[in-house]
Amino acid sequence: MLIDSHAHVNFTEFNEDGPDVLADCQKNNIWVINVGSQYQTSKKAIEISEQFEVGVYAAVALHPIHVLGSEFHPEEFIAADYAELVKSSKKVVAIGETGIDFFHTDSNFNRQKEVFINHINLAKEFALPLIVHGRDSRDGTKSAYQEILKILAKQNFKNGVIHCFGGLITEAEDFLDLGFYVGFTGIITFDKTDKLAEVIKRLPLEAILVETDSPYLAPVPNRGRRNQPQYVKYVAAKIAEIKQLPYNMVETKTVENTKKLFKI
Ligand SMILES: [Zn+2]
Repeated sequence: MLIDSHAHVNFTEFNEDGPDVLADCQKNNIWVINVGSQYQTSKKAIEISEQFEVGVYAAVALHPIHVLGSEFHPEEFIAADYAELVKSSKKVVAIGETGIDFFHTDSNFNRQKEVFINHINLAKEFALPLIVHGRDSRDGTKSAYQEILKILAKQNFKNGVIHCFGGLITEAEDFLDLGFYVGFTGIITFDKTDKLAEVIKRLPLEAILVETDSPYLAPVPNRGRRNQPQYVKYVAAKIAEIKQLPYNMVETKTVENTKKLFKI
């Protein structure tokens, strides 16, 4: 068994075959958490999860790249609307993805920060973990993780995952100290710098989640194709290879970690 802790089968890329993809996941004992990035995709994630007894869950949030002031389909964050979504279904297991993104724009940082804190408050209100997205500025001079660490510490929030982790080992350890998990995607299968491999080597398996971020970031050997939750096995296999552990151990432990975090 595996759990893809972060996928977007709720996105339009899966309009045609989303149900088939998830049926195949059920058959192969791959559980999936579909993550919202806007109000509509959050709602869709819930609708999809409601079609399954077990093994398909939802997270709801407004992604930082869609916060007002961005050019990328911006929309207003209305906390009450997201609270209604959480209350509408027991399948909502997290608030996310939320966070700070300097890559697309940093001009609306104050607003991103305010919306991130609003999400933290929602997570507190419903006792749910956070799924956090962080991406540095294009030129690498502005660190999203440093801002996120400051905000989480100040808000005294200690429950969640830093998804698609791409930072330094010191940052990963800071997140662990805060009580967070770190999630890895297919990027680890094609990262030529070996920077992520070094991070993975030094992190305890108890702190790691695996994810695909489907439809994006398809791992080797499926680079260039649409990603899907079934490919999470390549991420788990790469972690086993890097840490020189049996594949089954990575499978068992990451499933255990994910179940514990999301209470599923
Ligand atoms: Zn995502």
